[in-house]
Order: sequence, then C-alpha cells, then structure tokens
Amino acid sequence: IRRPLIAGNWKMNGRLADGAWVEHFRGALTASGTDILVCPPATLLHHFATLLPGDAIALGGQDCSPEPDGAHTGDISAGMLKDVGCSHVIVGHSERRDGHGESSELVRRKAGAALREGLVPIICIGEQLEDREAGRAIETVLAQLAGSVPEAGADELVIAYEPVWAIGTGRSAGPEEAQEMHAAIRAAWPGDDREGLRILYGGSVKPENAQALLACPDIDGALVGGASLDPHVFARLVNLSS
Ligand code: 13P
Repeated sequence: IRRPLIAGNWKMNGRLADGAWVEHFRGALTASGTDILVCPPATLLHHFATLLPGDAIALGGQDCSPEPDGAHTGDISAGMLKDVGCSHVIVGHSERRDGHGESSELVRRKAGAALREGLVPIICIGEQLEDREAGRAIETVLAQLAGSVPEAGADELVIAYEPVWAIGTGRSAGPEEAQEMHAAIRAAWPGDDREGLRILYGGSVKPENAQALLACPDIDGALVGGASLDPHVFARLVNLSS
C-alpha cells in the first residue's frame, strides 16, 4: 500500500558542473513504482529544477526556516523552496540538530512552515550511540517524534529514522534493529492513518545493504547521503527498491 521513496541528501556537496548527475542517473534508471527525490544544496535547486524531467524525479530542500519571508539573513523560507520547484524539504536532520543546536520544537515549527506552503516535510529523528548502548534508543526516538511532528495527516509528511551512529560511518543499522524502530514509530503515530505513514531509513545505505533493509515491512524507503552523490550507485538503489 505504501509506495517506496528513495531520497538522496547531497548535504554540503555539489557544484553547477554536477548537473550532469541528472543525465547519468536517468540513463541508469530501470525502476518504476518507486518515488524518487533528490535534495541538492540550495545553490543548485533552481538549476536542477530546469534539468529534472516533469515530476518523475522530485526536488527537495535540505532545510527551511520556520518563518515566512522576511528579515532572516541567511535563511530560506519554505515558500522560496516551493517557488523554485521543490515539493519536499528535509527538516530536523541530525547534522542540524547537533551542528546547529536545533530542538524538536524548532523542527516542528519548520515542518509546519513546510506544510503551510504545500511542501512535504521529511522529518528526521534518530538516537545517538550512547542512547542505544544505554537501552533507551526507542524511548529517545519516540520523544523526538512526539516533539517534532506538527498536527498533520500521515500522508502529508514523511518520517526518516536515521540513527546518528550510522550516518556517514559505513555502519548501517541491522535490518532487525531498524525494523524494530520503524514498527515502534508507526505504532506511536497518533492518528488512525498510521498504515499510510511512510518511514524511511537513513544511515550508510548502499547497494550492499539496501535490499535487506527495504524488505522489512515497516521500512518504506531510504534517505541516502554519500551513496546518492554517484548517479550510478543512487540509480542502483532506486532500481532494487521496486
Ligand atoms: P550517509 O548515507 O552518508 O550515511 O548519510 C545518511 C544521511 O544522513 C542522509 O540524510
């Protein structure tokens, strides 16, 4: 019932010359039946919007302001992302929570701003290694979920579970570990529409581990960092998801 979504988060990588990624990616794509999203840095969004074909590959921002347009130097509003062709925006990534001190309350306001502009927020949650080692991973993640999600229908947003210890480390969560968390997130969803909620896994996803993760019943796709930068590798991930 839930269509898989494979999303690429380029983080702070990419130059104008990387527009060639689109052509290479498209050429390597065989899958249908999977939703595809690419989130390059803000400097490349407009360029990518001109390169992406119709709505087959969706475009997303990596963050947005909780505020509408105005005096907020350096920030980008959800409306600006919409204007340039985005349909999605990542909010609450651990690199923003930890690197920029963002609280769940701020993430909730950012997700709300995205929803008001008709964007789909991809709300990231995930525990630190010390939480997992102390046996409080689920409790920590469910607290983030409760604090970060604005009032909305399950089909209006996407949740991404990204254990912080798995991001950029090469060490992904095991399928059982991830499935347990995804099931807990779905069970904690407050609405009765929880079966429609898409929950992505993120953290060192690559072709070698993606199949086992994506086969789990509550894992509805992946949020891919490093492996999304190579168009052929990212296409393999999309191809094996459908
Ligand atoms: P990596 O795939 O590079 O581990 O990054 C995951 C991530 O943070 C995606 O948002």
